Amino acid sequence: MNVPLLDLVAQYDGVKDEVLRAMMAVVERQGFIMGPEVAELEDAVAQLSNTRHAIGCASGTDALLLPLRALDMKPGDEVITTAFTFFATAGAIHNAGGTPVFVDIDPATFNISPHAIQDAITPRTRGIVAVHLFGQMAPMEEIVPVARRHGLALIEDAAQAIGARRMVDGTWRRAGELGTVGTFSFFPSKNLGGFGDGGMMVTQDDQLADRLRRLRLHGGARQYHHEEVGYNSRLDTLQAAVLLAKLPHLEGWSRARAERAGTYTEAFTGHPAVCPPAIDRANEHIFHQYTIRAPRRDELHAHLKARGIGNAIYYPLALHLQPCFAHLGYGRGRLPVTEAAMDSVISLPIYPELTRAQQDAVIAAILEFYA
Ligand SMILES: *Cc1c(COP(=O)(O)O)cnc(C)c1O
Repeated sequence: MNVPLLDLVAQYDGVKDEVLRAMMAVVERQGFIMGPEVAELEDAVAQLSNTRHAIGCASGTDALLLPLRALDMKPGDEVITTAFTFFATAGAIHNAGGTPVFVDIDPATFNISPHAIQDAITPRTRGIVAVHLFGQMAPMEEIVPVARRHGLALIEDAAQAIGARRMVDGTWRRAGELGTVGTFSFFPSKNLGGFGDGGMMVTQDDQLADRLRRLRLHGGARQYHHEEVGYNSRLDTLQAAVLLAKLPHLEGWSRARAERAGTYTEAFTGHPAVCPPAIDRANEHIFHQYTIRAPRRDELHAHLKARGIGNAIYYPLALHLQPCFAHLGYGRGRLPVTEAAMDSVISLPIYPELTRAQQDAVIAAILEFYA
């Protein structure tokens, strides 16, 4: 049986009517730039994230770039982040004029280690970008106090974690709620995906929200008047319309993902080779990815591929080892937990429409490999 890593057609089949109706309303109106759907989606995402503001932008990458630009960094200013993430996390730091400082991760959750953040702080540190990787939140109750103590901006890269929650001091907190800024991506393969690129920033800070709104419109709050040089980084009205139509389904989709994760974990628990992902007890994981650790990973990857089972390696080369960051002077051995993860992880098909028969085929192919 062929099992794709992700099946967006299956999702589309379930929401086709709503999505097409929403898109056609925009098309009939021919109002493609900053139409009412953008503000409506911003309100809905602010509500979901328990934040005062949400500001749409052109991508998850720009959602990181704009708040980093708002730090007004000088050459040599540093931003601490994880090397075990999608490239955009560190690329945005670089493009905002900062120097990424890579620290190691927690071996159980793959999320950035709060102790490693603390140890990496220098007089040049301006901010922290914590990534909520694969759909579960980093330990905000440990990271927020570090940021506060040192007067640092804290950006939550929640591209993979929209709607995820963590119990912090007895209260459920959403991804994006506790940082200076939280950022989301609506890239089609994300848990809430548009029909192209899109992103959003959330914040509790009124002044910062104004600055981010300005930065996405060439740095001018008033048309043709520019307080600073910004970007053309709006969220398309058509994308907002698609996302608004999909948003009511997000919670159910996240639940379906978690159920499918449970099925995998049940099958792999106690297996001598396969190590299922750990869920931090404080987290409600939304399983953007279901990522196992497995010995002979590259052979397993080829085995699954040969059997038509979709899979992917997120991420095969950690960011501190990327050629573009070679000048920063990291090498193999600097981040041992990250390097062990990149050599052993493999992500399996997980999406709300994944059937039990498909999952059984994935599980059987893996068990067969290690038999
Ligand atoms: C997808 C992703 C981004 C970038 O989002 P785009 O919308 O593709 O620009 C940033 N960070 C992480 C962790 C991501 O997974």
